[in-house]
Amino acid sequence: TVTSQPRRLTVLGSTGSIGTNTLDVIRQTGERDSFEIMALTGHGNVALLAEQARSFGAKLAVTSDDTQYQALKDLLSGSGIAVGAGTSGLQEAASLEADWVMAAIVGTAGLQPTLTAAARGADIALANKECLVSAGELFVEAVRRGGGKLIPVDSEHSAIFQCLDERHREALERVVLTASGGPFRTFSREQMADVNVETARTHPNWSMGLKVSVGSASMFNKALEMIEAKHLFDLTPDQIEVIVHPQSIVHSMVGYADGSVLAQLGVPDMRTAIGYALSYPNRSALNVDRLDFTTLARLDFEAPDLERFPAIRLARTALERGGLQGAVLNAAEECAFEAFVEGKIGFLAMADVVEAVMDDLCGLAPASTISDIFAADAEARDRAREAILKTRRAA
Ligand code: NAD
Ligand code: MG
Repeated sequence: TVTSQPRRLTVLGSTGSIGTNTLDVIRQTGERDSFEIMALTGHGNVALLAEQARSFGAKLAVTSDDTQYQALKDLLSGSGIAVGAGTSGLQEAASLEADWVMAAIVGTAGLQPTLTAAARGADIALANKECLVSAGELFVEAVRRGGGKLIPVDSEHSAIFQCLDERHREALERVVLTASGGPFRTFSREQMADVNVETARTHPNWSMGLKVSVGSASMFNKALEMIEAKHLFDLTPDQIEVIVHPQSIVHSMVGYADGSVLAQLGVPDMRTAIGYALSYPNRSALNVDRLDFTTLARLDFEAPDLERFPAIRLARTALERGGLQGAVLNAAEECAFEAFVEGKIGFLAMADVVEAVMDDLCGLAPASTISDIFAADAEARDRAREAILKTRRAA
């Protein structure tokens, strides 16, 4: 009999919303014995990280927060699990020979470790959209050169991936990204001016990490996803549409040249997209809620309002300008998001900051290496901090 090797898995960002769902999916697929967990990484919550590492028998656990190294070491003493910390620890985790790596670190911090895993040929299950928004073609090229697959986990992109038939690639006309519209879908601009992080983070349908929740409220999450779609599916700007769909049942759609539109539907539960990325090209049974069409009252669709949600307009500008504008938008948005969370700027000022930085840096020469991406990212953060200061002085 042929005994196959267990599949070796790593989860970068295992303590987050996507990370914990990923471990649940791994557990659920019922083939636990044929999996081997190589590395798990987290940031602040080392108690959870240690518990995950023990229960999955990981080879290595890494906290990206240097100050938590000793705490993690203590928690894992006697377990035989190796412990690492900081950026070098993340590099080590990404370098371990896993066949499949879930990239679920939030923000630009996820770029370098994901590139490392891609370069050595791992299949990348990509939740971290910032990798593609920021490094675009260079990221896609790094995965291609490494020889692994790139499988989207973002629900919209998973939907498109599931509806895209390579046989009909030539007939692909457009993709339609659905957006829930977030908690402020029906708010006026005046109402949005006063919202705080506690209301901005309460998403009507999905339970997610803080950044992606606030990004759903501002629609900057959709802005990032438009740029993500361009790179994942090699689209032109005019092939990318956004439609507000408050129920979050249709996860996204693909339109073909014959007028046919294919959609992927499901309850809003990230485990379906994560499971698809884990089992691709197959599908595994998952214990998630099933759509009940007899109780689904209706599905609504409406055009996004670009006045109230300027993020969509800014994404279009970035798509049309190309080059480093994705990296600039991404970095400026991350800074503006942090300033909003810290109460330094208002909700609407986030878009003003991003727009100012994008206009400031629209003359940058296109990137030829990843270090050009990191340089643009740093420059955009400096400019964003200046714009945030200016906004605060004016307020
Ligand atoms: P989260 O905040 O819940 O978790 C983020 C993970 O990254 C945690 O493990 C955290 O410890 C780790 N982390 C935080 N800061 C770090 C740093 N500086 N260095 C290294 N690691 C760090 O976020 P999430 O909602 O799970 O999102 C993760 C990624 O997936 C994001 O890029 C997000 O856009 C994307 N995504 C999330 C969802 C969702 O439903 N949550 C859906 C689609 C895409
Ligand atoms: Mg999404």
